[in-house]
Amino acid sequence: MLVRVDFNVPEGDDTRIRAALPTITYLVERGAKVVLMSHLGRPKGAPDAKYSLRPIAARLAALTTHPVSFTESADFDALVAATEALAPGSILLIENTRFWPGEEQNDDGLARSLARLGDCYVNDAFGAAHRAHASTEGVTRHLRPSVAGLLMETELAYLGRALAAPARPFVAILGGSKISGKIDVVEALLPKVDAMLIGGAMACTFFRAMGLEVGRSLVEPDRVEMARDLLERAGTRIILPHDALVARGMDAPETAHAVKRDAIPSDEAMYDIGPDTARSFARAIASAKTVLWNGPMGVFETPPFDAGTLAVAHAMAEATGRGATTIVGGGDSAAAVARAGLGARMSHVSTGGGASLEFLEGKVLPGVAALDVVGA
Ligand code: ADP
Ligand code: MG
Repeated sequence: MLVRVDFNVPEGDDTRIRAALPTITYLVERGAKVVLMSHLGRPKGAPDAKYSLRPIAARLAALTTHPVSFTESADFDALVAATEALAPGSILLIENTRFWPGEEQNDDGLARSLARLGDCYVNDAFGAAHRAHASTEGVTRHLRPSVAGLLMETELAYLGRALAAPARPFVAILGGSKISGKIDVVEALLPKVDAMLIGGAMACTFFRAMGLEVGRSLVEPDRVEMARDLLERAGTRIILPHDALVARGMDAPETAHAVKRDAIPSDEAMYDIGPDTARSFARAIASAKTVLWNGPMGVFETPPFDAGTLAVAHAMAEATGRGATTIVGGGDSAAAVARAGLGARMSHVSTGGGASLEFLEGKVLPGVAALDVVGA
């Protein structure tokens, strides 16, 4: 069984490895020979010790009771022999798929070779599904059936249901640094949501569109016109912060203080939503039946600019407890939730940063489109 997983994990964070365990365990418990493949980092189509999956194999071995082996071989005859020698119910992790130049080019020869490593293909790498690479897309042309793994299925179920048939009220919370990276998500979600709460530096571009002075806050001047247009079309559905936590600089947290949004000092910048806004966002979340969150409310890496992000995370955790469906997408938002220890209190924390964004934009993910079977 050839299984594409997303083990593109930062050191010390096993979230994505744990998230792949249900599929791996399901297969080995049924006696499958499980051949795992993943990319890690951005090696340039050649072996690079820095990006070897060998340490990942050790981390996986520590998380499962089933035998895990690793091979750095790039020779397909040797790899096929290794997969055939594998005992049923055991796991073989092969080396970083991006060590092959053909991976990112979706080379058909590589895809055909990869297909020799199993008798069917399981894609559980939601986080890589937005890329048409040999291990995510090309391989499906040569190995059938190609099916979704359990993590892939869960991701698509939560994100898909939120877009297609959300329990209402449906509230989206968007933040992060750049509006340019999120504009397609804003456009795609706007017709679907009952309210869209906007924080992060993104809010400042909207403030500028409203004619407000934003001091030294991060603004994308070339997006101000677009923000103005969005505000006109959204009516009262877009909800912007009414106060801001500002400071002299990101590295001067001791100068932080809250101001009304129309009183941002010219020599300071907004680094978080203000406390009044945090409370009103929390109230909006409390009244929702579906909450979808992407992008931190502020520079959450540096207290006290994490307060707004933490308020949103806690409000979502409480909403989950009251029966709402709460979904977190986006790498930094997920990291903020994990750091607050609230991951288990969300209905779903997506393991796909870029992939979840593209899915929310309404794009077809090539790694998903290529599968024969997705979900039950
Ligand atoms: P995600 O990974 O969850 O999609 P993004 O990558 O879009 O989120 O944005 C996260 C980054 O945005 C964080 O590094 C955070 O520090 C930054 N950020 C949020 N608010 C602000 C702000 N007001 N000014 C500067 N940076 C901000
Ligand atoms: Mg990010």
